[in-house]
Amino acid sequence: MPHDDLNQAHAHSVLPSDAELRVNALETLLIRKGLIDSEALDAIIDIYENKIGPKNGARVVAKAWSDPVFKARLLEDATATVAELGFYGRQGEHIVSLENTDSIHNLVVCTLCSCYPWPLLGIPPGWYKSDAYRARAVREPRKVLAEFGVVLENGEDVRVWDSTAEIRYLVIPKRPPGTEGWSEDALTEIVTRDSMIGTAILPVSE
Ligand code: FE
Repeated sequence: MPHDDLNQAHAHSVLPSDAELRVNALETLLIRKGLIDSEALDAIIDIYENKIGPKNGARVVAKAWSDPVFKARLLEDATATVAELGFYGRQGEHIVSLENTDSIHNLVVCTLCSCYPWPLLGIPPGWYKSDAYRARAVREPRKVLAEFGVVLENGEDVRVWDSTAEIRYLVIPKRPPGTEGWSEDALTEIVTRDSMIGTAILPVSE
C-alpha cells in the first residue's frame, strides 16, 4: 500500500473523533428541533459523494489540457471559469487552480480542518481529513508524497497550499505522455481525484 502510515493512523482511531461526535450531536439536535431534515441532508451528501465525486474536476483538467485559452483563463480566474461549465455552489466559492510543471509539483492540504473544492472533487477522502496528513503534508511533504507512491523524477520543487474557507485549490496534473490527440472525454477518464489534490501523478501506477 502506498500510504501505510496514514492508513495506520486511521486504524488506531477506533473511536470517532471529537469533531465527529460534535457533528453527530449537532445533527441530532437540529433534526429533533425540526430545523433540518435528515433525508435532505442524506440527499446532499449523496450528491457530493456519488454523483459529483471527482468527475467535474477531471473534466476541467481534460479541458485545460486540450484548450490553451481555457487553461489560461482557468489559471487567471478558476472560480468564474469553472462556473461557466456549471460547476459552482457550496464550498466552491473561491477556487484557485495550480498547474504542475516539470519544475513545480503542487500539493493541497487543509491544516485546520478539511476545506476542499466540493463542486469539482466531491467530498474529501478520509485521509485528507486525518490529523496525520494535515500535519505532515506541511512538515514533510516529500515523505508524504513518497508514501502515496509519488516519485518526482525531475526533482520538482514541492509547493504546499493550505486551503481555507476562502480559498480552495484544484491541481492541474501534468498531462501523461502518450495521450496526444486524445479526446476530452478520453482524457477525463484518466484524471484521478488524488492527482487533483497533488498526492498522485499520472499515469497512476498500479
Ligand atoms: Fe478546512
